[in-house]
Amino acid sequence: MNFDLTPEQDQLRDAVRALGRRYGHSYFVEKAKTGGHTSELWSEAGRLGYLGVNIPTEYGGGGGGITELALVCEELAAAGCPLLLLVVSPAIAATVINKHGTDEQRKRHLPGLADGTQKIVFAITEPEAGSNFHRLGTVARRDGDDWLLSGRKCYISGVDEAQYVLVVARTEDASTGKLKPALFIVPTDAPGLTRSKLDMEILSPENQFLLYLDDVRLPADALVGESLDAGLPALFAGLNPERITVAAMGAGTGRYAIERASEYTATRKVWGGRSIGSHQGVAHPLAHAAVQVELARLMIHKAATLYDAGRDLEAGISGNMAKYAAGEAAALAVDTAVQALGGAGMTTEYGVATLLGAVRAGRIAPVSREMILNFVAQHVLGQDKSY
Ligand SMILES: Cc1cc2nc3c(=O)[nH]c(=O)nc-3n(C[C@H](O)[C@H](O)[C@H](O)COP(=O)(O)OP(=O)(O)OC[C@H]3O[C@@H](n4cnc5c(N)ncnc54)[C@H](O)[C@@H]3O)c2cc1C
Repeated sequence: MNFDLTPEQDQLRDAVRALGRRYGHSYFVEKAKTGGHTSELWSEAGRLGYLGVNIPTEYGGGGGGITELALVCEELAAAGCPLLLLVVSPAIAATVINKHGTDEQRKRHLPGLADGTQKIVFAITEPEAGSNFHRLGTVARRDGDDWLLSGRKCYISGVDEAQYVLVVARTEDASTGKLKPALFIVPTDAPGLTRSKLDMEILSPENQFLLYLDDVRLPADALVGESLDAGLPALFAGLNPERITVAAMGAGTGRYAIERASEYTATRKVWGGRSIGSHQGVAHPLAHAAVQVELARLMIHKAATLYDAGRDLEAGISGNMAKYAAGEAAALAVDTAVQALGGAGMTTEYGVATLLGAVRAGRIAPVSREMILNFVAQHVLGQDKSY
């Protein structure tokens, strides 16, 4: 068992940390409050190669794995910049296209994803289907060589910033007549694709949208992979990277909040010469949160290592556990930090309450804590499926 990063990974961590700190949480908050995007940070991270760490070198990436991408997600979040689009664009979209796309799709998309000039967001959630992806109602029909996509998607992050959206739809299997999933790379300006922004109680420069697909016409090569059989494996390919990187983002956010609070409680004095952190009622909850965050980080490291070793099934279990642990730990850490800061905790200036919405959402998305518990109960504990 090896808990050490390689020298290259250590260097990457330090470099991303330095970049994140140069921007910092006030930059993130300012963009969110003024309706802007973190474009400068994204572009710089792309230019420096951090967005493409998991993309093969032949497409301009770093040739690393999800371990490296998780480091990027964690360190930017630990600097107060939790970028959700890292989870959808380089983690999900790049993995799906690299593993299951055609050569042509790899050449068209991976270089831009690697240097950050191209963003591809991900649309699976639907209003009626919710957590039950077997009920997806977005349908792809053939029309000559083209495809026509119709349906609705909800909570889709970053559509306003992206050139493409990877849409999960269903097609009719010619041999069985059954519907099966297929992924399509859809330009965000395709005729028939419209969106409306959702008002979310999350302070973030990244927005969520309702998407309406009304007979969106796509060429044959918009389908990910060579044939319809690529759909299901392509969909599953995105899941582990998604869970591991979103967990890393949660762990980084937890670290950020605990660091902010610890700096404050170590120096704030309201009872004579003693810091408020000397009171165990203040220090213990912070220490408890720090333990939870560190445990989540261990599980993230394990999941990423298994994933990069090609051990997908084991990575699925660890990745789900890591996502669960990090989601809970991040929410605990931010809430505890707010409490430890007292009134200052609720100000924008101290930059912790600004994360309350985001960490709360991290217990729901991209997969809810309940669906992870269902997964663990079924696949680890051997319980019958309840739904
Ligand atoms: C900030 C944010 C960003 C998002 N970004 C994206 C995105 O980019 N792309 C995308 O496709 N989706 C995105 N989503 C959607 C997200 O993945 C879903 O919200 C999530 O999967 C839950 O689905 P739902 O909201 O429909 O909840 P529902 O399925 O309606 O569930 C409601 C509640 O019931 C619980 N529940 C449901 N079924 C069961 C069961 N069988 N057992 C126990 N409990 C159950 C759930 O855990 C949840 O607590 C985003 C959501 C948020 C909040």
